[in-house]
Amino acid sequence: MLSTVTSGEVVLVGAGHAHLHVASRAASFRERGIGLTLIDPDAFWYSGLATGMLGGEYEPELDRVDPRPLVESGGGRFIRDRVVGLDGDDGQALLASGARLPYDVISFNVGSEVATPAGMTVAETAWRAKPIRGLLDLRRSVEEALSPGSGRGSGALRALVIGSGDTGCEIAANLDALARSHDAAIHVTLITDAPRVLAERSGLISKRVARLVRGRGIDVHTDATVVEVGGDGCRTDDGRFMPGDLMILATGLRPPGWLADLGLELGAEGGLLVEATLRSVSDPNVFGAGDCVSLVGHELPKLGVYAVREAPVLYRNLLAAASGEPLSDYRPQKRCLTILNLGRGTGLAVWGPLHWLGPAAMWLKDRLDRRFLALYREGSDGTEPD
Ligand SMILES: Cc1cc2nc3c(=O)[nH]c(=O)nc-3n(C[C@H](O)[C@H](O)[C@H](O)COP(=O)(O)OP(=O)(O)OC[C@H]3O[C@@H](n4cnc5c(N)ncnc54)[C@H](O)[C@@H]3O)c2cc1C
Repeated sequence: MLSTVTSGEVVLVGAGHAHLHVASRAASFRERGIGLTLIDPDAFWYSGLATGMLGGEYEPELDRVDPRPLVESGGGRFIRDRVVGLDGDDGQALLASGARLPYDVISFNVGSEVATPAGMTVAETAWRAKPIRGLLDLRRSVEEALSPGSGRGSGALRALVIGSGDTGCEIAANLDALARSHDAAIHVTLITDAPRVLAERSGLISKRVARLVRGRGIDVHTDATVVEVGGDGCRTDDGRFMPGDLMILATGLRPPGWLADLGLELGAEGGLLVEATLRSVSDPNVFGAGDCVSLVGHELPKLGVYAVREAPVLYRNLLAAASGEPLSDYRPQKRCLTILNLGRGTGLAVWGPLHWLGPAAMWLKDRLDRRFLALYREGSDGTEPD
């Protein structure tokens, strides 16, 4: 039988999409005499605009929300630190700084990391699609390499993007867009072990996007299983070597590996296993949302839109758990609109069996993304937090 906490301290680990929603409602915790603390080592970086930021279309300030004013304006507390462990018996979160933070209810919304496929070795110098902040570093590195004073040789900069799902295609297209905006040459290669790009999507979508990227001079290698990502290129399982200056891994997302150290039950893919109430199946005082959880009975894609839909349920349930009230259930949406940014003002919108490719899709994406960010922007000017 699960016991329920009746008051005290709620700790939010990670300023992910769902916790932004909870943090923006800190006042309702305060009104009930419940303390609310948000911990994050960084800021909220919005993946919706991430590849547009990489492509030079959006400035980083637009893609980043400082969670501190959001939670503090409602009477909550922000701690810039990283959670590294949990002492569930004593109800304490262990922080990277060495501090211990007591909680009555704790919630994880710590996102995901790029999965390294089994059998692939990856050099430290390789770039990854996540964390999103890293895409800003990648942009700066490309801009520096493309600048006339960089001291690079005369050949085009060579970028190898490994993985041709939504993220790989977006990154390849936006690296090309970035170089174009600087009137510089880049040679982008998209490599996948699948028989076609966007293999999860319909054959028609795949064909149209492959035509689009090839039309921009991006090379596409299908049925190519990369086994080694080195400092100067990639090797495939049939012994081919593709030379490159920048190697970028976009091989899918998985929950962070360190969750396994928390002593909580995990789902098959390594996320915190939660019930429909978003409460851990193994600890009634632990909740979670977003990419870092596995929801019993579902296999949800790693998309921010799910964390956004989980947010109101998480908010209600954290308040309820801390007040001894009944919890409500989250029911995942059957389908969601996804819009890819394919650079140079082109978007690909997909809704179930329907899709559109072109500027209208990009226009819609821009509007939706800006509207989402505006919800949390108040009090945050997007500049680098202290
Ligand atoms: C390039 C790219 C583009 C994408 N585009 C889209 C898109 O257009 N639409 C979409 O729906 N999805 C998109 N995704 C997927 C999306 O990134 C994830 O699904 C989404 O970010 C998950 O959100 P979240 O709320 O779970 O966590 P996140 O938004 O990733 O937030 C996690 C937070 O936890 C913090 N954190 C991590 N570890 C700790 C710790 N130990 N202690 C404290 N805090 C911690 C991090 O600093 C971060 O602030 C994209 C992914 C990539 C890589």
